[in-house]
This record gives sequence, C-alpha cells and structure tokens, in this order.
Amino acid sequence: LWGNVQQGPPDAILGVTEAFKRDKNPQKINLGAGAYRDDNGKPYVLPSVIQAENLLAKKNLDKEYAPISGIADFCNEAIQLALSSESPIIKNKYYASVQSISGTGALRVGAEFLTRYAPLKTIWVPIPTWGNHNQIFKFSGLEVKTYRYYDPKTCGLDFAGMVEDLSSAPSGSVVLLHACAHNPTGVDPKPEQWKELSALFKSKGLFPFFDMAYQGFASGNVDQDACAVRSFLSDGHQIALAQSFSKNMGLYGERVGLFSLTTLDKDEADRIVSQLKIIVRGMYSNPPIHGARIVSEILSNPQLMDQWLVEVKGMADRIISVRYQLKDLLDKEGSTKNWEHITDQIGMFCYTGLSKDQVKKLIDQHSVYLTNDGRISMAGVTSKNVGYLASAMHKVTST
Ligand code: PMP
Repeated sequence: LWGNVQQGPPDAILGVTEAFKRDKNPQKINLGAGAYRDDNGKPYVLPSVIQAENLLAKKNLDKEYAPISGIADFCNEAIQLALSSESPIIKNKYYASVQSISGTGALRVGAEFLTRYAPLKTIWVPIPTWGNHNQIFKFSGLEVKTYRYYDPKTCGLDFAGMVEDLSSAPSGSVVLLHACAHNPTGVDPKPEQWKELSALFKSKGLFPFFDMAYQGFASGNVDQDACAVRSFLSDGHQIALAQSFSKNMGLYGERVGLFSLTTLDKDEADRIVSQLKIIVRGMYSNPPIHGARIVSEILSNPQLMDQWLVEVKGMADRIISVRYQLKDLLDKEGSTKNWEHITDQIGMFCYTGLSKDQVKKLIDQHSVYLTNDGRISMAGVTSKNVGYLASAMHKVTST
C-alpha cells in the first residue's frame, strides 16, 4: 500500500542536531537549532516561568478543554504585549485573535484564513527566510513569491532591492515581514526604513503579515522590538500577526502562540473570530492550556512581569556579549576578514557569510554544527566555547 512512499530528506535545521548527537568529539558545538542556552550551554527555564507554575499549582485548576479560540485572558494579554496597552486597537478591542500552537501554528492558521479570504492568494517572503515559512504557506494553499532582503556583499539589508521587488507586487498581495530579529540573517530594517516600507505598503495596497517570534529577544526590550508592528499600526494599516512565546519565555515545547488580525470595528472582529474558530476546530479542535496559563500568569502579575522583563533582557544581553567576544577573538586569531556583521546583526542568529564549503569544513574538521547556509545560533555560543569557535572559524576562512 505504501510502497511508493519515498524517504524524505531530514529537516534542514533539526537534522543538524541529529548529526551533532552522533559526533563523539568532546569539543563539539551545536549551533544549529535556535534554542537559548545559558553560559554553561544548558537549556534555561526562566525563573519567572517556574514561579508562575508554582502559583498555578496552588490554584488546583482543572484540565478541561480550552475554548476553540483558546484562553481568553491569554489572548488579550498576549496581543497587548505586542501592541501596548495604549493602542486604540487594544482599547476598542478591534482585533480577532485565536490562541495557536506556538508561532508555527499561528502562521498556519493565519495562512488558512488568508487562503479563504485574502483578495490574492499570494504571499511574498524575504530571501532568505526561516525555511519553514515556505512549506507552511504552500501547504495552506498560498502561492509563495520572494522579495530581495539580504545583501551577501555587505552581510546587511538590501533595502533598495526589497523596495523594488515589493513595488512590483500586485495590490492585494500579502507580504510576510519578520517583526524583529530576522531569522536567519539577524538583519532588520531601521525604524526610518520601516516608515518607508509602511508608506510603500499603503501606496501599493499590500497587506502586512508580521511574524513576531522574538519580541524582547532582539534588543532586550519588548517595546523596542515591537516598533515595526506599532509603527505600521500607527500609520493606519490593518495587519496580521503571528506571535510566539517559545524564545522570549523559553516555552519551546509548551507551544504557546497567538494569531491575530486587526479589524475596522468590533463587529468585523467577531465575524473573523467565528471563521478562525471553524479553521481551528477542523485542524486541532482547541489549543493546549498549560503554556498559555503560564504566559497569562506572568503577563497579568506586575511583579512576575517585571521579573520576566529582566530575564528576557538577560538572555538578549548574553547573546550580545558573546557576539563581541566572538568578533574580538577572531581579530586576535589574526583574521583579516571583516567580521563587523557579527555585532551588527541582532537576535538569536548570526548569518556568518561562510560558504557551503567552509560550513562543511567546520562540521567535518572541527565538529562545529550549523546550517548549510552559514547561519549560527548565537544562543549556543558560551564564554567557554567561543575561543574554540573563533579558532575553528578562522581556520576554515583563512585557507
Ligand atoms: N517564525 C520564525 C521566524 C522563527 O524563527 C520561529 C522559530 N524558529 C517561528 C516562527 C516559530 O517557532 P515556534 O513554532 O516554536 O513558535
């Protein structure tokens, strides 16, 4: 019956971890998957999350199903985190939100909605983008087109190319934007470039779909990291928004996220939620409760919220600090290459600019594991392994 099913290729990112696990070299480093590690290279459960779980345990909550659209308090607090309590959209409740299976699920539910209701079934994504975007959108029935984003010559933003490509997108097209800490490049538009993009979207009739998987993780400040989303909204755009709490609360396996559309009024919000619920019901019926309860507990408790903000900043600052250490050590190794982009880029990843050949050497000769495109997860770099990494990077780039 299934004789014609072919072996599929390993996932481009998760496959790296599988290869890492098989390696016996004690100095091996896994810089593939984007999951935060502390300075000892260990997974980090945020103390605010542990406290929230302790508080939840005392409440003796039941394990009944959540509503199809998720836990209402969670949904309201999560979107407020993105838009701010000052936003008129929040004050008037001009949004349609459903809790989702983390950021991936938010993108998927959003894409299903767009497939049914968007004027054009086309979504434009940057080159490069998080690899999963392509299949999430394709599986939902959207046609995926690409716009220029990254300039390999400068290891920075190709803003002119981005503007030119988006100017050619037909009115009604959906455009996927990374809200902050672009994955995989770590390259974001500057605030004034976001303003220009917002004006372009207006004049061309493009619809922004923000993927916000790293709020707080880029700068260490949740408000600063929301500046793109908030500036589009203050310019009067309606937006789609996918949020994830995997990175900023370290809730990877709990799968907590939110999909939202901002609306013109409350009635539109209600109608859209009713359709989102039909989509969710047919996909997974209703979302998991534990992670959403944790997030809700943190966001609604001022003391826990303050503590969490310090912890997110701590994670972001550690990553920024290892960026400087790595660049300094490459200089000390005697590398004559320009490594400015290591500290210019932000968020969890550094798009090193290493060639496929150099990546292969890093893996085969130095047991440093990274994705094929030269992306390293800075979250896996520590004060203990950064010296080994710098030396290995110098060796593969100087021969
Ligand atoms: N979008 C981007 C750009 C990401 O990098 C990720 C995580 N790698 C996600 C969405 C979704 O992750 P999750 O499903 O764990 O929230």
